Amino acid sequence: MNQTSILRAAISLAFGAISAQALALDPLSYSRYDQVKTRDVHIDLKADFAKKTLSGFAELSLDWIDKSARTLDLDTRELTISKIEGQTDNGAWRKLSFTLDKLDEEKGQALHITLASQPQKVRIYYRTAPTASALQWLAPVQTMSGKRPFMFSQSESIDARSWVPLQDTPAVRFTYSAHIAAPQGLRVVMSAENDPKATGKGGWNFKMPQAIPSYLLAIGIGELEMRSLGPRTGVYAEPKRIDAAAYEFADTEKMVSAAESLYGPYRWGRYDMLVLPPSFPFGGMENPRMTFLTPTMIAGDRSLVDLIAHELAHSWSGNLVTNASWKHFWLNEGFTTYVTTRIIESLYGPEEADMNLQVEQEEAIASLAKIEPAKQALVSRDADTSSASYADEGLVYPKGAWLLRTLEQRAGRAVFDPFLRGWFDQHAMQSVTTDEFVDYLRKNLLAQHPAVMSEAELDEWLHAPGIPASAPRVKSARLAALDTVRAAWLDGSLPTAKLDTKAWKAIEWIKFMNDIDNKATAAQLKELDEQFKVGKTGNNEVAFRFYRASIHAGYRGIREPLRAFLMSVGRQRFVVPLYTGLRANAEDKAWGEAVFKQARERYHPATQKSVAKAMSEK
Ligand SMILES: [Zn+2]
Repeated sequence: MNQTSILRAAISLAFGAISAQALALDPLSYSRYDQVKTRDVHIDLKADFAKKTLSGFAELSLDWIDKSARTLDLDTRELTISKIEGQTDNGAWRKLSFTLDKLDEEKGQALHITLASQPQKVRIYYRTAPTASALQWLAPVQTMSGKRPFMFSQSESIDARSWVPLQDTPAVRFTYSAHIAAPQGLRVVMSAENDPKATGKGGWNFKMPQAIPSYLLAIGIGELEMRSLGPRTGVYAEPKRIDAAAYEFADTEKMVSAAESLYGPYRWGRYDMLVLPPSFPFGGMENPRMTFLTPTMIAGDRSLVDLIAHELAHSWSGNLVTNASWKHFWLNEGFTTYVTTRIIESLYGPEEADMNLQVEQEEAIASLAKIEPAKQALVSRDADTSSASYADEGLVYPKGAWLLRTLEQRAGRAVFDPFLRGWFDQHAMQSVTTDEFVDYLRKNLLAQHPAVMSEAELDEWLHAPGIPASAPRVKSARLAALDTVRAAWLDGSLPTAKLDTKAWKAIEWIKFMNDIDNKATAAQLKELDEQFKVGKTGNNEVAFRFYRASIHAGYRGIREPLRAFLMSVGRQRFVVPLYTGLRANAEDKAWGEAVFKQARERYHPATQKSVAKAMSEK
């Protein structure tokens, strides 16, 4: 028992009605998975593009733990529930009464189902709201062909409840199956077994035999073509994008093999990818068997495929070994960020991996200035009571990876690689906490190699703000050479016409753009733009950084490509900082607001919200 649970036990003694277990549950879910756990979910839904709804039923198969429990509490958000039934021991379905709580902005609505006994199965008949937070319904004009509508889900972290009533917490895993009806001419894909030969006649059927947490429940519906990339890899995309996608992702099968040789067999059957329309608010989402990807990573030259390595890495860190609540998010993303660099190194060599890693570490350090210290810890010491105390979502990626990299460098790969593989093997298909990782680390690495990291340093990594001063930093020789070139260009001793960028890789452009930000003048950026057409590059990571530097320097020659970028790209990581930069002076702000007004409808609701917030902040 740790200190936190002693405190909880004391509180529950004092207040009687609140059990110690209830207090230890995921604070972002209303479900009582200490009483009952969902084993399997079957959904039967019809997609209506005119009404922007999914309607039908969800059937939950339940394992009862607390034999005295007489309520089933589920998570929902904006669902209209028409009827709930429970299956009795003799197989008959009987109507159950229920209440739906008032909407909580963060958590949604608790659904309380009253039970006379403990049914093995419960069916909830419902329909989603057109504003369901997980679903984006796109009009034909928002797709490439302009002919057919599109719909996709984004359930992480707690939006699965807006399209399926369930125990919406990563602490519960279930298998699922689905029957989905969709308009003719559209294909349905899910984070499950997808049959590329299915026609959709009589509906689309899916089965997911591996147990997943709710945030990995995913659906996409659109005009889609499938292209095979290897024996167990393939890509789905809109017909006009399928060739470009297949070219860009050609290395996927090799990536799966590289990851397997590091961390053991890929356990999910196929690895397919779905390329979404540009309004997808993230880079990628690691939905099992069907990674969802932004089209903005198709650069035309395979220069951004580390994003695929990242989503693939989640097949071990996150999907196989899952954070038990969002407080422990770094166990998903920090581990995945570390594994990504290892996959890149296996495929493209140490020079490429080091360049990526150095930029990742530099960007982590630079981000600290914008994050309040309390949110810079990998994990908060507070009891699981409020998401407000959770770590900064962006920082846990590089910082968590940096902790693992530090352990790896000091212990050596001969020790660290089997250690990490053992973590995945021993916790496969489980949900884990930071304490469990620390226990595993002490037993399987620090006990044998105490010099690798002291308890005090480990504590600093986990609970203190910033990056420990003892953290080893990567220094790429190739990027050091670039530093010299950049310095000479910035001080004017190297004219733009003499900049020799022919051999530059995308990561070198990215590094260059990072380092000239807030230093290069508008005149220098104009020259760079004219000489290298940077404003129109197909590489969105480079374009984003060039626009950012241009906004800061007041170079307004980028307005047309920037407008086109903001109108066509909905990825939050790009658009939020760009709009934020435009707020700096009245003229840019007015221009940014006008663009946002035009672009708003094209963005995912989550992006709309983030940009509106960024624009209104002082
Ligand atoms: Zn990730």
